Amino acid sequence: MPTAVFEQLLPGLPRPLRRLVGAIEDRAGLSIDATPHGERMACDFGRHRAVIQVPDGGPPRDSASVYHELLHLKRYFVDDIPKLVYCDDAHEFESDADARLPQLFERLDNQIEHLFIVPHELARYRGARRYWAGRLHALLGDPRLSDDGVLVVWTFVHRVLGDDLLADTAQARVDQRGLGEACVRFGRAVDESKEAATLFLFETFSPGTLPRACLEYFARQQEIALASVKRAAG
Ligand SMILES: [Zn+2]
Repeated sequence: MPTAVFEQLLPGLPRPLRRLVGAIEDRAGLSIDATPHGERMACDFGRHRAVIQVPDGGPPRDSASVYHELLHLKRYFVDDIPKLVYCDDAHEFESDADARLPQLFERLDNQIEHLFIVPHELARYRGARRYWAGRLHALLGDPRLSDDGVLVVWTFVHRVLGDDLLADTAQARVDQRGLGEACVRFGRAVDESKEAATLFLFETFSPGTLPRACLEYFARQQEIALASVKRAAG
């Protein structure tokens, strides 16, 4: 049964979004739930759950923010795009940094997904461009942004936003870190597939954690090691 939060949300959605909810639920064999959650929209999904997390005040960007979360769910449940997950093995965490890996993988998966789903969001909601430009501007100003973060942000600015001002700022970050060549190679990997893009990031920035990265496919009910994608691609 859908939760009260989602029952409140659903009637206010435009018809195409309600249809999308139906398509996702059919394929997932699950009802989408909605739960109250902090200040931002988010989603939480896997083989046995499809949850949209909604701030107390309702979706901050109305239907655009609901559509965004539905696109995350659609890619996984309907389009059979795998989700990057921490391999479910018997590994014991050796340190705090180690114990943070599952969360880091989840965040990275989200960032990679945005390269694919935000263009759809912008096609339907032109006003969303301002939100994303603001978010990217803030990220580019953050001195703690990691090298792989710079790479993904640069790619997002070029592919998704096409914003000249942000492109200049992103280029300056890339040049500072000497990541120009990596940007070109990452772009090729993104063109190939999400799997290739994810593998590229691990091989380039975090080879030590590659053995613990897995891809979970919903329709196939299968989890495969990200490193095995490498062998398949030669
Ligand atoms: Zn998202």
